Amino acid sequence: MENEKTKCLIIGSGPAGYTAAIYAGRANLSPILYEGLQPGGQLTITTDVENFPGYPQGVGGPALMDDLRAQAARFGCDIRAGIAVAADLGKRPYRITADDGKTIEAETLIIATGATAKYLGLEDEQKYAGMGVSACATCDGFFYRNKTVAVVGGGDTACEEALYLAGLAKKVYLVVRKDYLRASKIMQQRVMENERITVLFKHNAVGLYGENGVEGMHLLEDKGGEEHRYDLPIDGFFLAIGHKPNSDIFAPYVETDKTGYIITEPGTPKTRIPGVFAAGDVADPVYRQAITAAASGCKAAIEAERFLSETGSLH
Ligand code: NDP
Repeated sequence: MENEKTKCLIIGSGPAGYTAAIYAGRANLSPILYEGLQPGGQLTITTDVENFPGYPQGVGGPALMDDLRAQAARFGCDIRAGIAVAADLGKRPYRITADDGKTIEAETLIIATGATAKYLGLEDEQKYAGMGVSACATCDGFFYRNKTVAVVGGGDTACEEALYLAGLAKKVYLVVRKDYLRASKIMQQRVMENERITVLFKHNAVGLYGENGVEGMHLLEDKGGEEHRYDLPIDGFFLAIGHKPNSDIFAPYVETDKTGYIITEPGTPKTRIPGVFAAGDVADPVYRQAITAAASGCKAAIEAERFLSETGSLH
């Protein structure tokens, strides 16, 4: 079977992937986009998005992604359901194999596979998804003004989320499984000094309860070897125990940090492989916002077009 060829292949269908598709489509690159594991990306599990510019009344996460998808399709992007399962970026054209068995030969590749927030694995996290459970304080914190929330984790993300939420909520519990915070000293200090934040060291959240949404969490405290179980009323439960960037199949070729985030040339989406770009959360351990992802998708498509032009492969 002969491989399919394309000037621009985009992997991933979050704001980065679709924005890259809009720009690449309008530049006549006839891009192909594979939607990946979670079509529409992380925003499809968010209820209201109020911080994406252009929506004064906010917009539902799935509705926003449907709009971006339709906009990408309007400019000729060939959007396919499917997951990239193997990559050969050893030489150009780059070869990506999808789970339908097709191999695509691409002159340029835009990796926009995102990152997946880690969850504790509790059944209640699924049960209350979108009803009080969130993995993004910047996205959902606003709904908890003057309420009580919990953040799970002891790293920089957890501290940052706890501090952000402390600016909105009346009370924030930081649930930390060890007896210390792993976060940088400055973040630790800010958390410890914030009057609205109470750090619950040596605690694990083991369940949630509530009739029509989260009303509290079940906790397990390690009291010097003895386990103490108790419940604490909360309105929102935020996970901040890390993200896993979806970079596994590309990692042998591109440069990644120790967590797996793809490292790009500062300020650009360029990876160390010419014509291979990384956009959105897969290359962003810091901001991880829909709008920053969209912006980097735009940059990636512009760079792809430039690369094709410079290498004489545009036509
Ligand atoms: P980290 O891996 O640094 O921290 C994860 C935290 O979650 C740890 O405290 C860990 O506990 C805890 N954890 C993990 N699994 C569980 C579990 N199953 N139950 C309970 N707790 C759990 O992830 P971050 O997302 O915080 O940070 C990732 C990287 O990004 C880091 O290098 C960080 O410094 C960086 N970062 C930088 C920022 C900045 O500079 N502004 C902002 C945010 C992140 P334990 O300690 O026990 O393992």
